[in-house]
Amino acid sequence: MQTEVGMRKKSQCCGCGACMAVCARHAIRMAEDWEGIPYPKIDQKKCIHCGQCEAVCPLERQSQEKRETRERKYLGAQAKEDTLRFTSSSGGVFPVLARQVLLEGGVVFGAAMGKEGRVFHRGIEDVCELPQVQKTKYVQSDLQGCYSKIARYVKAGRQVLFTGTPCQCQAVKRYLGKEYENLLLADLVCYGAPSPGIWRSYVKELEKKYGGTFLGFGFRDKRAKDNGHTVSVQIEGKEYAYPMKQDSFCRVYFRNYTIRPSCQECPFCTVERESDLTMGDFWGIEKVKPEVEDGMGTSLVILHTKKAEEFWDKVQEQFRFFSCKKEEILQPRLCTPTPKSGRRFRFMLLYHLFSVCTAEKLLRR
Ligand SMILES: Cc1cc2nc3c(=O)[nH]c(=O)nc-3n(C[C@H](O)[C@H](O)[C@H](O)COP(=O)(O)OP(=O)(O)OC[C@H]3O[C@@H](n4cnc5c(N)ncnc54)[C@H](O)[C@@H]3O)c2cc1C
Repeated sequence: MQTEVGMRKKSQCCGCGACMAVCARHAIRMAEDWEGIPYPKIDQKKCIHCGQCEAVCPLERQSQEKRETRERKYLGAQAKEDTLRFTSSSGGVFPVLARQVLLEGGVVFGAAMGKEGRVFHRGIEDVCELPQVQKTKYVQSDLQGCYSKIARYVKAGRQVLFTGTPCQCQAVKRYLGKEYENLLLADLVCYGAPSPGIWRSYVKELEKKYGGTFLGFGFRDKRAKDNGHTVSVQIEGKEYAYPMKQDSFCRVYFRNYTIRPSCQECPFCTVERESDLTMGDFWGIEKVKPEVEDGMGTSLVILHTKKAEEFWDKVQEQFRFFSCKKEEILQPRLCTPTPKSGRRFRFMLLYHLFSVCTAEKLLRR
């Protein structure tokens, strides 16, 4: 018999897959529901009720835990190297940190996009692989296989940088069970994790529309110098770019029809996080420091730990950066979760009946 882990409500599962990774009996697998969102299923014949899956869950005990109130540093930053900033989503903080870790012989884990648009986390050890894990993908990333690899690397004394959503960073932390000096957890300000199943359907719709095999998608293309509010589709040697607000997948994402239910109750929408540092877009840069705003992206950075401050000291020369007040970097997803949409169920029905594009068009009316 298959049951969901702990018979939780869907809003209590962020789909990180740490429960599956920790299960010594291989009793858990991830399966998508009718919204194309993955949830763990337990095979009761294999389960020995050891409770490891509950213990490792990043959402477990979150609301009760008193978050540590520590001194944090708030920064605005742009990578000095234009190629790194222009090929990133915000100010290019991630590639600078990642390159430093790689040059020191470490390993970097981030989200890549593979065949048929599948978004998954992978580890890289070479700087030439960096572009694969750069850039924002607005799709929930699959962490399968990463937890045990991260554990192996950190226990062997390698420097590891893991980047992901805050729930994924917390999942890595809980999976490892203790602090490691050689592990740097860099989480993202996060609007919410969209359904991988709906994304896969959309990739097929794009192939049909443009008549060819899907090769890639840029969610935050900067060619229009609009801080990445352009998207680009790569289909068999051709590329199409258009404003993000005209893209059906992005429209349904930002109308809150496709994100995980847990994102709408996310306990990490705060600056008090337990990772080492947080990266995001510097919203309102045009008001805080208009002289640096050039449409090519500025990052906000929050340094939560001493470890992060020490790492920043090593790389700071590679940035144009400035310190700021907490109030200056605040944006909705550092204060409250993305709200629910009353039209979500209708979208899901229409999507199953027709397609992502048609459902989105019908709901525009
Ligand atoms: C789903 C999602 C929602 C976001 N929502 C917001 C928001 O509301 N406000 C805000 O300020 N910033 C948000 N961000 C973060 C922002 O878009 C940038 O990713 C961040 O500022 C880092 O940019 P960069 O220029 O430093 O590096 P980039 O080179 O752009 O690096 C992007 C980093 O994000 C990781 N990543 C990409 N896609 C995913 C994914 N699907 N899951 C986990 N990790 C991923 C990559 O591995 C890389 O480490 C979001 C990111 C994601 C993935």
